[in-house]
Amino acid sequence: MHHNTPLISTVVVGLVLAFILGALAQRVRISPLVGYLLAGVVMGPFTPGYVADQKIANELAEIGIILLMFGVGLHFSLKDLLSVRAIAVPGAVVQIAVATLLGMGLGWTLGWPIGGGLVFGLALSVASTVVLLRALQERRLVDTERGRIAVGWLIVEDLAMVLTLVLLPALAGLLKGEGANGLSAYAMALPVLITLGKVAAFVIFMLVVGRRVIPWILHYVAHTGSRELFRLAVFAISLGVAFGAALLFDVSFALGAFFAGMILSESELSQRAANETLPLRDAFAVLFFVSVGMLVDPAIIVREPLPLLATVFIIIFGKSVAAFGIVRMFGHPTSTALTISASLAQIGEFSFILVSLGVSLALLPDRGRDLVLAGAIISIMLNPLFFALLDRYEAKKKEAEEAAEAAAAAQSAQDTAAEAVAEAAMVSAKKRSARVELPVTALTNHVVLVGYGRVGSVVGKSLQQGGVPFLVIEDDPGCLERLAEAGIEKITGNAAAPGMLVAANLEAARGLIVAIPNAFEGGQIVAKARAISLTLPIIARAHSEEEIAHLKHHGANSVIMGEQEIAKAMIAQIGGVHLP
Ligand code: AMP
Repeated sequence: MHHNTPLISTVVVGLVLAFILGALAQRVRISPLVGYLLAGVVMGPFTPGYVADQKIANELAEIGIILLMFGVGLHFSLKDLLSVRAIAVPGAVVQIAVATLLGMGLGWTLGWPIGGGLVFGLALSVASTVVLLRALQERRLVDTERGRIAVGWLIVEDLAMVLTLVLLPALAGLLKGEGANGLSAYAMALPVLITLGKVAAFVIFMLVVGRRVIPWILHYVAHTGSRELFRLAVFAISLGVAFGAALLFDVSFALGAFFAGMILSESELSQRAANETLPLRDAFAVLFFVSVGMLVDPAIIVREPLPLLATVFIIIFGKSVAAFGIVRMFGHPTSTALTISASLAQIGEFSFILVSLGVSLALLPDRGRDLVLAGAIISIMLNPLFFALLDRYEAKKKEAEEAAEAAAAAQSAQDTAAEAVAEAAMVSAKKRSARVELPVTALTNHVVLVGYGRVGSVVGKSLQQGGVPFLVIEDDPGCLERLAEAGIEKITGNAAAPGMLVAANLEAARGLIVAIPNAFEGGQIVAKARAISLTLPIIARAHSEEEIAHLKHHGANSVIMGEQEIAKAMIAQIGGVHLP
């Protein structure tokens, strides 16, 4: 092995081993993440054979975190962040407190001093950004309400950890019981204030300067027409801002990158920027898992089975039960609470940084660090399992709903019973609507419009001009504000969710227009509508022949394919050319 090229060998061996073990894991139907982590164990110092450079592996992992957080920022606007603060802030704080107390309890049982227990507990309380985002991205949950809550929650945890990392050295003496008298309240409050001041300064700097400069740079580069330069600009901005934030404002890389992305999300170039970072982001995320694997000494499983079990228990159950309770307490549905719980049932990069600091300050015994590391790898390995259980739960729920609708639709075949069926569907739907407690609109003989984006808003405006009564079902909070301004009646949420169409009084409507781009979801909405009314005219939107067939199959009377209409309009403008 060429030890004179540690960077190259770490990257190459890491990626190759991760690929082989990841592919094997996939083959035996477990998450490739497990393969990546095992690749790290194989390359680590505790197993025979090649040992990669841990320091380099950690730095590579940091690049992965930066790119991931940048990507999240691109999907996230300040408005999104503020819209979930009501739950994310108290949720994260309470959950951190619960996990920390549990960890301190375990530390106390193991005979550690209080400072050691505190560091241990805090390390167990923060989830890994990479693991969480991977899970959300795989399930396309980042842009959903629960995804936003999970990411908001993560940002709060991130901020809490930034504060902890700054405060810990200042408080170490006190925690160890030395010189407690010498430490005044002022000396303790000062580092907190300075840190908060720096975070605030960074945020203000980004909002004032970054907001103007970053989109300007990207627009400028986009106009040069060079794809290569554009890509470079995206990377330079994401990495540069993250690094600058850490250097100048002492903010974590992750937080800096998140803000760089968020600033960009306001410009229409963001989608393109996001796509540019995808391939590199994935490669570095893999290296992150490899670097985690490298830290772990597998022998701990036989050396300390019980403390390890307790640690894993706190990470997986202690944290998630607390999170579940809080999310439910705030009135969010069970599926949201389960998603948040599953997302948080693991620990990662912040925990590693925290325990290393704890050990170097002589607060935490080495044993505590080993437990956290082993707990991390086990919880990361088990994490896909919880998401699989969540998927199962949702599939079951959906199945039960569809069974109810299918029963209603089957009955409807007997034409004499049509009315009874509609009523049965109404009753079952009303039951569902009772569950989400949506009031039914007073409108009758109205149009129900699903989606108020590029297509729906044009339809809505002309309905308004024509004096046709209508209401909109929309799940994007941004659109909802526009609707409220225009004085249009609206129902908030996914039209495919239980109770939505009943709340729109679809039974008494004159028509349904499904103006959303996702034909798969559109099909579900159409099927649900058909189960409520057999005669209702339903118009849906599609982008391909398959989608047209799908929507018609579910009961749409007519389906408009956007691309075809664009082509027709183009041809009509040329003149002299006849449509086939
Ligand atoms: P556009 O593609 O610009 O016409 O936008 C579609 C709009 O439909 C967006 O504003 C989405 O928020 C909204 N939308 C998409 N899916 C749903 C759904 N299942 N229920 C309600 N609104 C939706």
